[in-house]
Amino acid sequence: DATIRQIAAGEVVERPASVVKELVENSLDADADRIDVTVEEGGTDRIAVSDDGIGMSEADLRAAVREHTTSKIEDADDLEAGVTTLGFRGEALHTIGAVSRVTITSKPRGGERGTELRLEDGEVESVGPAGCPEGTTVEVADLFYNTPARRKYLKTTTTEFSHVNTVVTRYALANPDVAVSLTHDGREVFATTGRGDLQSALLSVYGREVATSMIAVDGTDADRGVEISGYVSDPETTRSTREYVSTYVNGRYVSSPVVREAVLSAYGGQLSAERYPFAVLFLDVAPDEVDVNVHPRKMEVRWGDESAVKETVETAVEDALLDHGL
Ligand code: ADP
Ligand code: MG
Repeated sequence: DATIRQIAAGEVVERPASVVKELVENSLDADADRIDVTVEEGGTDRIAVSDDGIGMSEADLRAAVREHTTSKIEDADDLEAGVTTLGFRGEALHTIGAVSRVTITSKPRGGERGTELRLEDGEVESVGPAGCPEGTTVEVADLFYNTPARRKYLKTTTTEFSHVNTVVTRYALANPDVAVSLTHDGREVFATTGRGDLQSALLSVYGREVATSMIAVDGTDADRGVEISGYVSDPETTRSTREYVSTYVNGRYVSSPVVREAVLSAYGGQLSAERYPFAVLFLDVAPDEVDVNVHPRKMEVRWGDESAVKETVETAVEDALLDHGL
């Protein structure tokens, strides 16, 4: 019933940023070339994620909001073969619907008709035709309106928005071939071009000063099957007010203390309070050398050979800084 659904939803949906994460992942899984994220009041009032992906028919839509329904795996064999989509549990839409007012409009690619579906307290309230472009828009209003205890734990608009910004930034940088935009209270915060290169995505997200002073990192450790690419800040010119090392492993954002330490030690004594390191690094690691599904929420990663990864990262960053005369 509704109460059980609301409790279960708390596990998946902690704050607006968790909703944004699920919706953006769905858009990426739907093969979108463009994803527009719009939030009001840090996402506490309204979140809308719009894409030009494969879209859904009326029947798809009805199925999509059902509990434990996913179109992404058919059977246990698919799970065994390895999940390539970001989602596969079929929980997100259903649970978000239990703690907010959800409206989904969608039209399949090449389809004739669009459909609008509304959820209230996790139940389908209405389904009807809608005039909309191909692709999908999911709108989530009044998050936690029916769970006041959770609503109370939301932080200020600024804090909630900063979490949303962090999430959208992560996906924008991990997918430079998708045009991702973020708008807060009517103001566009950033919009990537979808041109495909990390540098132009960095420019859109962090601005010219950061993007132009970044140093390219490139390294391969063929023996260990580790490849690294990305950018680190020039400690002479880039001012970062906080430490910022973001790591992607095989295209997925992960939180990795190992990589962070490797970056810090590569900078050696060149860091100070006003010269925090700023790095965006992509690691390609042989799939049997890394487990990125240790905990999907915490985005942790388990390495086959931790010291090999640390060494490869440290060497690649050191080389990049050296090449730059640092
Ligand atoms: P999961 O992503 O684990 O499959 P979700 O609850 O997030 O579960 O989504 C349920 C289903 O709804 C998906 O499997 C997909 O078929 C459909 N869906 C959700 N969002 C979109 C979207 N933006 N475009 C197309 N289909 C979508
Ligand atoms: Mg999903």
